[in-house]
Amino acid sequence: PVITRFAPSPTGYLHIGGARTALFNWLYARGHGGKFLLRIEDTDRARHTEAAVDAILDGLKWLGLDWDEEPVSQFSRTERHAEIANQLLNEGKAYRCYLTQAELEAAREKAKSENIRFESPWREADPATAPDGAAFAIRFKAPRDGETVVDDAVQGRVTFPNAALDDLIILRSDGVPTYNLAVVVDDHDMGITHVVRGDDHLNNAARQSQIYSALGWKIPVFAHVPLIHGQDGAKLSKRHGALGVEAYRDLGYLPEGLANYLLRLGWSHGDEEIISYERAKKLFDLSGVGKSPSRLDLDKLSHVNSHYVAALSDEEFIARATPFLTKDGITLGADEESRLNRSASFLKSRCATLADITKAAGFLLLKRPLQIEGKSAKPLKKEGARQMLADICALLDDPAIWTSAEALDERLQTFVADRNVGFGAVGQPARAALTAGHPSPGLGEVLYGLGREESLARLSDQAQ
Ligand code: GLU
Repeated sequence: PVITRFAPSPTGYLHIGGARTALFNWLYARGHGGKFLLRIEDTDRARHTEAAVDAILDGLKWLGLDWDEEPVSQFSRTERHAEIANQLLNEGKAYRCYLTQAELEAAREKAKSENIRFESPWREADPATAPDGAAFAIRFKAPRDGETVVDDAVQGRVTFPNAALDDLIILRSDGVPTYNLAVVVDDHDMGITHVVRGDDHLNNAARQSQIYSALGWKIPVFAHVPLIHGQDGAKLSKRHGALGVEAYRDLGYLPEGLANYLLRLGWSHGDEEIISYERAKKLFDLSGVGKSPSRLDLDKLSHVNSHYVAALSDEEFIARATPFLTKDGITLGADEESRLNRSASFLKSRCATLADITKAAGFLLLKRPLQIEGKSAKPLKKEGARQMLADICALLDDPAIWTSAEALDERLQTFVADRNVGFGAVGQPARAALTAGHPSPGLGEVLYGLGREESLARLSDQAQ
């Protein structure tokens, strides 16, 4: 069976790169009828808070990435890690290192100047010569010669000369296990079959492989995914903008849109751009993950997101977009709500993100009498314009024609043909009176969205 995992350190938010790693693991597990587990790497007690963990869980939930079983706390497994460190010690695959900080620094300096691998003298020393009661760390006895190969599902065969991998501390003198040991023990105990993570861990994979081998444990399939970079090609950082998934949520991206974008960022299936979760579960494979870093492109994200916005039902769109109006300080009365409901299909087509609703729905939410100024007022100053508005009011008075935007458009077209004028003679003053120059759709949609009463009132406000 396939068992994958996502193993974030609780930083206080779900990083967009972490979200993609989680997505890949989730898709792989779900696509193979396997399990997707969560492990919180909470060994840094100084930085660990419950809220920081919750922020990550919330981000995953928002994205719809459900996990199996209770999340595992790495910190809670400290004793198990120590047990394995001691097992390696007893089997002669690790040793007690009594180097003091000063000795360690000197030995490292010396190795560096001689351009050889640092090695603690305690690797070969007779344990009987150990200083009585002195503190010691447990170091892993890493092979001196040869090489360690990581057969990576994304990176291919990556070879590390063992001369570059020195004896790692696996248990510090204060009894705290170190990262590479903890990860190996946890992944093994959790039955992880596939480790999909950022390629900043590729080097660790070599060290971890050595530990697996020393323990006689099966090495999981490694898949190291290139990191996400900013538009400028540099590793993603704060100066590129939002890093946390919740920031994208607050910008009005849909979880489906963000996930689809993240999926396509670094993984491809032909030219398919819009790939639903259901489809992605069937198609996702590790061999489709590219080797080079991908660049975060907000325009592309918006483009993908706009597909998902357009695909929402009218009700769902209004329900999800309304909080963004509220955030922009707009309160909706029953009238405004029905205007939004009537305009939902148009609004969906204009919103790349939910936050775009404030701009797209602006004309619907204006308060009468409209302030029409500058260029927007120009059509009203033309000769006959105000009379035209009065005529349009008369034309549209009949409640029976307010059935759809198309019906209203048709009525206007007939009127224009009867009068033998260009559409502009009708459309320009009407649009000015109805929208005050705010971005707006076709006139039929403007009228239908505003509704009969509000439309007629706005037109009469400007009519003669
Ligand atoms: N906790 C590590 C991180 O946040 C991930 C380790 C792993 O996936 O093995 O980068």
